[in-house]
Amino acid sequence: MNLFTRFENAFMPNYGVPPIALARGEGTRVWDAEGRQYLDFIAGLATSSLGHAHPALVEAVSAQVATIAHTSNLFLHEPEVRLAERLLDLLNAPARVFFANSGTEANEAAYKLALKYGRREGRSYFVAAENGFHGRTIGALSLTGKRAIRDQFGPFPVEVRFVPYGDADALKEAVTGDCIAVFLEPTQGEAGVVPPPAGYFESAREICDSTGALLVADEIQSAIGRTGHWFAHQADGVTPDILTLAKGLGGGLPIGACVGFGDAGRLFEKGDHGSTFGGNPVSCAAALAVLDTVDLDHVKSVAARLRTGLESVRHPLLKGVRGRGLWLAAVLTDDRSAQVQQAAAHAGFLVNAVQPDAVRIAPPLIVTAEEVDALVAALPAILTEAAG
Ligand SMILES: *Cc1c(COP(=O)(O)O)cnc(C)c1O
Repeated sequence: MNLFTRFENAFMPNYGVPPIALARGEGTRVWDAEGRQYLDFIAGLATSSLGHAHPALVEAVSAQVATIAHTSNLFLHEPEVRLAERLLDLLNAPARVFFANSGTEANEAAYKLALKYGRREGRSYFVAAENGFHGRTIGALSLTGKRAIRDQFGPFPVEVRFVPYGDADALKEAVTGDCIAVFLEPTQGEAGVVPPPAGYFESAREICDSTGALLVADEIQSAIGRTGHWFAHQADGVTPDILTLAKGLGGGLPIGACVGFGDAGRLFEKGDHGSTFGGNPVSCAAALAVLDTVDLDHVKSVAARLRTGLESVRHPLLKGVRGRGLWLAAVLTDDRSAQVQQAAAHAGFLVNAVQPDAVRIAPPLIVTAEEVDALVAALPAILTEAAG
């Protein structure tokens, strides 16, 4: 029986059966189970920041697993301390860190942290954005502004009011002195790599300051160099009260982080939260290798080349390009992103149909100028095949 049938027989149907089975990778290149080569322009959902089998990651993880792979939180270990200090250094503001294993868990920590504040202050509801994505566990799901994946699992423990993303007036109206916290992505990822209008995050900061609500920046997809900055909020000139990280941080090894700035970093008391695997030595070693290796100047330069290249393509199916850094969406004139994803794979490129009319392009941060040029050169034929 082939791998796809075995997958279908063994797994719950929540993912459907993916169309390609990946066997190995090197840099931006990956090979499927039949030995076909692709250039990876999605990086495991903006996660494999160093691409595949990067020597720095291989060495760090191998050395750590051969030394000590797990301690639990009964014991501390040096890699977690070094990683927390390193993040605080990059954030350049007084803050405290909690490590989890994934994005949704980082947001659960943020949710509980905010709830402690809300209960203390007698506040009652959260605000989040329509079409936002914060994860699949119940707390994070309750903040996720996509009805199709949220509503069937409600009701949720705390009320969440949704506002249109990017509309500062709507945000101002929704956030009162009863609001516990506002959860926002600096650019919406799963909604189709949608940046807000300039000044939106600054407005969110002002609205939170004037009402006492906490500002939670979900940077699970946007941080660790993806936008050409370590953190997108730094480019927006805004410091949140709580920050969540995951995806690109571990370069493919599972790790999430919740950072509380100032007083928000001291809301949890002993016993309030925990995770057996969170911040395990292997994932921390991987994250340290990522932070040592990512080169923001390289990201900025290949990102500019990719954007200019994509914008130079003239095709009836291509409406435009949006996004930030190495995190872009090709916006289509028609709902044919699934066909574009398929045609791209035929041409040897992995991209992602993130929305019916948007194709997400998020290569490893080590992608080369030549690899970027190869995608740009192939795009017109891919679009023509997709247009049918
Ligand atoms: C992917 C993502 C999450 C969820 O992360 P998981 O690791 O899949 O749980 C949350 N928020 C944002 C913005 C994301 O992109």
